[in-house]
Amino acid sequence: MLVKLPKSNKYIIYMKVDYIIVGQGLAGSLIAYELLQRNKKILVYDLPEDNYSSSVAAGLFNPVTGRRFVKTWKADKLFPYLHDFYPEAEKELRSKFFYRLPLYRPFIDLQEQNKIMPDFNTTEDNTFMIPANFKSKALRINEKLGGAHVRAAGFLDIPEFVDSVRKRIQEYGKYFNHQFVEKNLKLNAEAIQYGKFTSEKIIFCNGVRASNSKLFGWLPFRPVKGELIFATISPALEFIYNRNLFVLPFKNEIHKVGSTYDWERIDIVPTEEAKKMLENKLYAILDVNFKTIDHIAGVRPATKDRRPFIGRHPKFKNIGIFNGLGSKGVSLGPYFAGKFIDSLESNTEIEFEANIKRYNSLY
Ligand SMILES: Cc1cc2nc3c(=O)[nH]c(=O)nc-3n(C[C@H](O)[C@H](O)[C@H](O)COP(=O)(O)OP(=O)(O)OC[C@H]3O[C@@H](n4cnc5c(N)ncnc54)[C@H](O)[C@@H]3O)c2cc1C
Repeated sequence: MLVKLPKSNKYIIYMKVDYIIVGQGLAGSLIAYELLQRNKKILVYDLPEDNYSSSVAAGLFNPVTGRRFVKTWKADKLFPYLHDFYPEAEKELRSKFFYRLPLYRPFIDLQEQNKIMPDFNTTEDNTFMIPANFKSKALRINEKLGGAHVRAAGFLDIPEFVDSVRKRIQEYGKYFNHQFVEKNLKLNAEAIQYGKFTSEKIIFCNGVRASNSKLFGWLPFRPVKGELIFATISPALEFIYNRNLFVLPFKNEIHKVGSTYDWERIDIVPTEEAKKMLENKLYAILDVNFKTIDHIAGVRPATKDRRPFIGRHPKFKNIGIFNGLGSKGVSLGPYFAGKFIDSLESNTEIEFEANIKRYNSLY
């Protein structure tokens, strides 16, 4: 495309793409994948070595959370969607990153057992659970009380998924391992210009860094630091344990154990305090020895109302954001990435609860 520069006789050749994506963690990968599937020309800027969340996350997906065994927000839509999406993506990207695993939540006491048991399969809220009594050689579970077997759970190997999408972008789009500098973005009525590129639209998937940006820093982000440990446990668990902490059998006898929530210290420094706390909790439920082999920390791009930040900028309609996936990126991401691209392509809006429109008054 040839564009004449103002006050000059010079012509510059700009390369035209359909979308620029800033950030390729889990959010940017889902957006990039969705766009490539629709044959869009994309350009991605990312700093994988500076990733704060996707490279650290356990990748767990679980439709039932909280102390009261309730379904997570939109579980009836999100979980059938993700169970189709990731296996399809595995085939398309010729890679393995999606693992279905039973998840077990033991009852904590008789009172809880009495409260939950009669409701199983009788209320709509329990469609994802069945009463269960999992036996494990490694876990000290109170067999008499039993617990709930949560269906439709498992984990995504996020780094593997992100790497597979990156290869696809390098093959069919453009990928730059460069920092995107917001102040160098030029906007006019029809297009966006950045360096030697013009684009119809740009989507920011820059995780916690969005909170410091001029374009989207006005949104009420509430980043939360999280730490987890890697521990070898022998024999390995055959299911994910989830009560007070999760123990996820990852590879061979390596388990991910986590995680912590800290809203005060927002950095990526692993602390001795968090490590000890996780080890103590693990020690309390295990009947065998374990060995901590690694310990990592990251920051979740969470929001004040715990709902994603998706939508168009209030002033610049060709600038979008796909962010705020918080601690549930694996389950929220696929459904909303599809909905968001649908809305951008058809000039419609995504639902209000996830749409940044709900905060337009803050802009
Ligand atoms: C300890 C921990 C445990 C977790 N466990 C789970 C879990 O079990 N299940 C689950 O669903 N979620 C979990 N999460 C949350 C999950 O990690 C997030 O929901 C998700 O990964 C967020 O992805 P993102 O792409 O929005 O952000 P990020 O992963 O932070 O990616 C943002 C990317 O943008 C890039 N970027 C930013 N600014 C620029 C720029 N100017 N130029 C170029 N690149 C830029 C960064 O380098 C980065 O690569 C966990 C998080 C933590 C910290």
